[in-house]
This record gives sequence, structure tokens and C-alpha cells, in this order.
Amino acid sequence: MKYFSTRNSSKKVSSIEAILKGLADDGGLYVPESIPEIDIDLLEGKNYKEIALEIFRLYLTDFTEVQLKNMIESAYSDQFDIENLVDVKKVDKQSILELFHGPTLAFKDMALSILPYFMVEAKKIKNVNEKTIILTATSGDTGKAALEGFKDVPGIEIIVFYPNEGVSDIQKLQMLTTEGVNTHVVAINGNFDDAQRSVKEAFSNLKLRELLKEDSFVFSSANSINIGRLIPQIVYYFYAYLEMIKQGSIYKGDSIKISVPTGNYGNILAAYYAKEMGLPVEKLICASNENNILTDFINTGQYDTNRDFVKTISPSMDILVSSNLERFIYQISNGNEQLIRDKMNDLKENKKFEIEKELVDTIKKIMIADYVTEEETLKTIKTCFEKTGYLLDPHTAVAYSVSENIGENILVVSTASPYKFGDSILKGLDINTDELDVEDINFKISQLCKKSIPKSLVNISEKEIKHHRVCGINEIEKTIKEILKVGSKND
Ligand SMILES: *Cc1c(COP(=O)(O)O)cnc(C)c1O
Repeated sequence: MKYFSTRNSSKKVSSIEAILKGLADDGGLYVPESIPEIDIDLLEGKNYKEIALEIFRLYLTDFTEVQLKNMIESAYSDQFDIENLVDVKKVDKQSILELFHGPTLAFKDMALSILPYFMVEAKKIKNVNEKTIILTATSGDTGKAALEGFKDVPGIEIIVFYPNEGVSDIQKLQMLTTEGVNTHVVAINGNFDDAQRSVKEAFSNLKLRELLKEDSFVFSSANSINIGRLIPQIVYYFYAYLEMIKQGSIYKGDSIKISVPTGNYGNILAAYYAKEMGLPVEKLICASNENNILTDFINTGQYDTNRDFVKTISPSMDILVSSNLERFIYQISNGNEQLIRDKMNDLKENKKFEIEKELVDTIKKIMIADYVTEEETLKTIKTCFEKTGYLLDPHTAVAYSVSENIGENILVVSTASPYKFGDSILKGLDINTDELDVEDINFKISQLCKKSIPKSLVNISEKEIKHHRVCGINEIEKTIKEILKVGSKND
């Protein structure tokens, strides 16, 4: 399987090159030259890791079967607190796909625990001796998952930029207490979009890349712009479908609707790939919080970032520029790279773009988009808990709420453990948190969901803060140089 940029299909690269580069040189995102089909009957009776192998071998053809198996075994190990990595739970009429059983308690672990293995193996195969610098912008969860994944991996240095005021207390503590000799965490005085834009600019900054090359450093990305993030995320949709059959929630062959709490559009794009591969999906439900730019886009064709950025209780979805939308528009326009170049240029120049009605209609055939307010999100957490005893984190609550009046056979994707956003959940349940510290909140959550506090969070506020750097929006390049100790001769 070859890959090329959404903005230029003439230059093909191998899967390992695509993973090592992260972003194409022209600023586009790598896509597979075709989406492979798979026979679901083949996957029946297989466990999570076996399904992963079947999916990976279709996309990651530069690795041998043995290499893939070894990487799957190493990555998907006992860091996950359940045997099959993910769980499907029937809650009221919906089935909830819990993707938060990994080491950092968010769905990002599904891909970021294996991406480092892909990279290290790819470097070996290609004989790359340079040090890989993983540059990552995070709205909270990618950062920690990437830090854990890449921590102390030889030949790799990881730098994470997060919005100083834009993550939850637990998310911040999780990141700032990360150990490892190759980890760097930087608070940026801006929001997630600022962080993501600056990181993308650093990527495309040829002068900076030349300078780094002199010291044998090359950039790569752990963000969902990296195709190595996307492919592992396809796996759990197949697993969940088979699990729904097993649990008697659907019959074999039934079409399902999948509700995804969406930010950078990576998770829902993986669901779209699964559908194109043959998973019976009737509709994808793109659920947003008050940053409802995707709702507007899918319903009207207009993508306009000239609007206020809202800080919500589901911060991992506080995004106005969703990178993976580029891949999605590429796919549904049948690979119209000229269209992508034009629209992405509009976005850069005017901070907005618009697509034709025909294309909007195509999107609407497979997608429903809606959003919920903060108030509705809190109410959903409360009513769901009172009715079923199940605790939804605020991101999951958004997807749950949007899916409530959309019929049957619904799979709601749960992207974070309630522990990551305990504060907001307690507010939803009308519990006053003014006097509570992080440890108190964790204790309360454990009482409510009747499960013990995850090991990684026990006494987290007593762990040593290892990272103290703060930088301005325009200081990313300078910060990278300082961390890597390059370019000081000329500055
Ligand atoms: C990253 C994240 C999202 C958004 O996922 P995308 O793939 O960026 O759309 C939703 N919820 C949580 C908890 C996340 O960490």
C-alpha cells in the first residue's frame, strides 16, 4: 500500500515513510492510495489484537507479519486494564464503546501506545540514524498519551505544546509529572488552535528543518495528522460491531450508527474508513460542543473559523481548525486534490472556505452533525447517572446526548475516563467542588462509579512537577531550538 498527500497524488511514498514524516512536504496529509476492503466474517471470533493484525496488514505493508505481531504484543500489553483493551457496555438503549482503558485514560492510547513501535521499526528498516523529534500540539489527551508512548524510547525526543489555560487539572498534572530523559512539556500562552498552527508552521519551516538536520535531527508528528495514528483507530470499530452482535444488541448484518465526540476529526475519520472497508454503518454522527464549527460545516458546507473560541468542559473538543477534515473532504470528493489545494488555501488566506451543495449532499448521506450546549452536557451526565448509574465523562456525554433521538443500533464512542474530568462531572451531579482538591474529587468519582482509582492517578498531586517551561504563541521555534540546543551560534 502506497500513500500520497491530499494535495498532490503524484508523489507516492511507502507506509513507513508516511509514518516517519507525519506531514507531507506540501503541507497536505498522507492518505492511502485506496481504502482496502475486508470481509467481516474473517474477523469473527478474533480477539482485539488479532483484529488489529488483520487491519494493519492491509495498510502497513512494509512491515512483515512477524514484525506487526511483535509490535502489537508489545504495545497492547498489560498497560491496558482489560484483556481486550476496549469494552462495549449497554447503557440504556445505547451501546457505549469504552476506549479509555489504556495507561493515560483516554482514547489516544489506542494509537499512541503503538505509534512509537511503528516509528522505531520503520527507522530500523530504512536505516535512519537521525534523532526523531516528535513535535506535538495537544488539547490535553494526545500530549500525555504521546509522552507515555515515547518516554525513554531510544533515538527519539518528544516535545509537547499544550494551551496553558485550556486543559483540565488532571490533564495538566498528568503531563507535568511525566518522567523520562527525552520528554519536554511546554505550556503555550494561547489556545489549542494556536498551538496546532504553530507546530504545523514549525514543520513546514524549511530553514528550521535545515538547521536541525545539521545536528542530525528530523521532525515527526504524534498528532492525528500522522497516518500511523489513524490506522490503529480503525480496529476498535470492527471489534465493537462484533461485540454488539455477541451481546445481542444487533443481529449480524445490521447497520449501526456511530456517535463520535469530535475535535480534530481523527476518530470519526477512522470510523469512516471502517465504513468504507465494509463495516455496516448507516450513519456517522459528528457530535460537537459549543465550538460547533463542524455542525455548521456538515449542515451548510461553510467552514468559517471567524468565530469565538469557547472554552468548554469538554476541552479535548475545543478546536476550530480540525486537521483531519482535509482527509475526509479528499475522500468524499473522490480524491479531488485541486479542490483540497483551493479550499486549504482559502482557509489559510481568509480563515474560511465553502464547498458546493452537491458535496454537502454527499456528506449528509453518511453523516449527521449536531452539537450540545454546556448546560445540556451537564444535564446529560446527571440524567444518565440517575437513570442507569453510568458515569459519562463530558466528551462522551456530548456524543451520548446528540445520539439520543436518532433511533436504534447506536454505538456511542466514549473517549475519556470519568477520572480525567471529575470536577465537571461532579458539577453536573450538583455536587459542590469548591472545597475539594484533586484527590478528593478522584475519591468521590471512585465512590460514584464503584471502581477503584486508577493506579496512575493515586496521589498524583504529590508527584514531582518535572516540566516548567512556558512560551508565547510566537516563540515555538525559539523554544524548540533551546530544548534541542541548536542554532545558538547564530541567534
Ligand atoms: C482527542 C479527543 C477527542 C477528539 O477526538 P478527535 O479524533 O480529535 O476528533 C474527544 N474526546 C477526547 C476525550 C479526546 O481526548
